[in-house]
Amino acid sequence: MKPARTRIAPSPTGYMHIGTLRTALFDYFLSKQTGGQFVLRIEDTDRERFVEGAMENLIEVFNELGIFFDEGPMFENEKIVQRGDHGPYIQSERLELYRPYVDKLIEQGDAYPCFCSKERLDEMRAEQRETKQTPKYDRACLALDAGEVKKRMKTEPYVVRMKIPEGETVVDDVVRGKVKFNHADVDDQVILKSDGFPTYHLAVVVDDELMKITHVIRGEEWLSSTPKHIILQKMLGFDVPTYAHVPLLLNADKTKLSKRQGDVAVEDYLQKGYLKEALLNFIGTLGYNPTGDREVYSLEELTDLFDLKKVKKSGAVMNIEKLDWMNNQYIQKLGLTELAEAAKPFLKADVDDVVVQRALFVERERVNRLDELQDRIKPYLKAPKVDAEMLIWKKADAADAKNQLEGIRAEIEAMPEDIFEDVSYIEDRLMGYIKKNDLKNGNVLWPLRVALSRQERSAGPFDYLWALGGKESLKRIDASLKVL
Ligand code: GLU
Repeated sequence: MKPARTRIAPSPTGYMHIGTLRTALFDYFLSKQTGGQFVLRIEDTDRERFVEGAMENLIEVFNELGIFFDEGPMFENEKIVQRGDHGPYIQSERLELYRPYVDKLIEQGDAYPCFCSKERLDEMRAEQRETKQTPKYDRACLALDAGEVKKRMKTEPYVVRMKIPEGETVVDDVVRGKVKFNHADVDDQVILKSDGFPTYHLAVVVDDELMKITHVIRGEEWLSSTPKHIILQKMLGFDVPTYAHVPLLLNADKTKLSKRQGDVAVEDYLQKGYLKEALLNFIGTLGYNPTGDREVYSLEELTDLFDLKKVKKSGAVMNIEKLDWMNNQYIQKLGLTELAEAAKPFLKADVDDVVVQRALFVERERVNRLDELQDRIKPYLKAPKVDAEMLIWKKADAADAKNQLEGIRAEIEAMPEDIFEDVSYIEDRLMGYIKKNDLKNGNVLWPLRVALSRQERSAGPFDYLWALGGKESLKRIDASLKVL
């Protein structure tokens, strides 16, 4: 495949929507796989929605996830610079670029100024609604005399509308196949606003052309705008890029993903203790699976295997249980110090401490998110109160519990310190003791585990011995013996 130039064109709103990240990942995979470029363009012409610092935040989140752009605004020495031969990449810095295209369209008879007031347009729409007509501009201003138009353009505010020709446009979409639009249903879209700013529709067409974008991947909600874009591209003699409209993201109940039902900002997921590798894997395979035979893929694999044609047409459900499962898989892959480092922002504990590190390592199997670890490691850092009842195994009594605990205590005390460095040595030694003395696992290991963890359910006694070390373990056993 020829090198693909892809772009993500977010309107910075102050946070990164999950859907933006998914589209960006598809763009990223395609451009990297084909040796092309991945471009960031900031669509910030809607001044009413402008949020200070939103662009910086967006780029930071991408970078935190390990996603970098080949062209566009980016951080260098903590400052935003724009890199690439097709800039500026911030739309508000491109404003003077659009007017010549508007003039050309007017000259060709493909666009016309419209002086209609908001009140008139509202009235028109209300009437159309009542009479059940397609809501569309009625072309009142197209009927104006050319001389009058020229005069009024000098004195009155106006917008410029494209003149949709008769006929139909077929969008040949990689995900959705051929989608036909009858021009009778397409509105004479405003392309230039009365403040002289281009609308999204004009800007996106001009920018994608000037930035030599080959593939436009975006959310399904833009599909109905695409015929307008293709008509504009044809009027202006531009190439029509390859389009791929990816399906909406849905809540578990199949409604459109909304803030009300859960988190929609990528930042929220990072703050909750999802690992970036798990997030990238999960979001990069929403509504899409590269092979169909597994769920866990690295970023490199996702890049190599990416195939737009395999993206499903139906909405993709944000299944948080699956994300949790996936995050657990990734947490389990972390080594002792990697885990401590990743967990650090979520802990009120010293991650350089051996007990903390080992406790994290033992508990990692039982958590889906890093923010669950703090509670999990508490019983390692401070022994919870002993409960005499709890120490007694269901098939034994207090006397047996005491007896067994005393026996294993002696064995633990006799173990050399270096055994505590390796959990499998601890296990071998203690299991050897049980076998040699012809004891039952439950009678010994239940009271031992509870003596150490002080909990009905917990990690096993060998893991606890490894995490706590000999001294603290003996202390906990002694305190437990006292209450039996
Ligand atoms: N600015 C649009 C957005 O916020 C871009 C849509 C497109 O990719 O064309 O999603």
